Amino acid sequence: MKGNNQITQEEQDLLKEIENYEAQQRIAKLKEKLAILKNPQNSADICDCAVCETQTKQIFKIHIVNYEDKGINPQVISKICQNCKENKVIQANFYCPLTSDGYDGWDTNQPKFNCLCPVPLEKK
Ligand SMILES: [Zn+2]
Ligand SMILES: [Zn+2]
Repeated sequence: MKGNNQITQEEQDLLKEIENYEAQQRIAKLKEKLAILKNPQNSADICDCAVCETQTKQIFKIHIVNYEDKGINPQVISKICQNCKENKVIQANFYCPLTSDGYDGWDTNQPKFNCLCPVPLEKK
């Protein structure tokens, strides 16, 4: 007699496959953690977004002007996730050494850049 609770061979195989799959996922996650421990450089890829505080790998380093009340200085570069970049923040229209060569007709009495980012030697 075959009850409803009986597991067929086919179901058993599927369950095993699911288990294997889940184990693989776990191993992949553990390996990723291990890689970060071994090479801290990798962990630099994972950051908290300065606005929503979500951990993300895809981070954008930009100057933003509309979160000063949250303690974000527009002159300091912020790490922002893609969602916030597209939907929440207003980017500062700065001459930043990371993205520009400074003012075009640069008057040497004026600062060449608007922000506090370190200026590479060749742009000084
Ligand atoms: Zn965010
Ligand atoms: Zn900058």
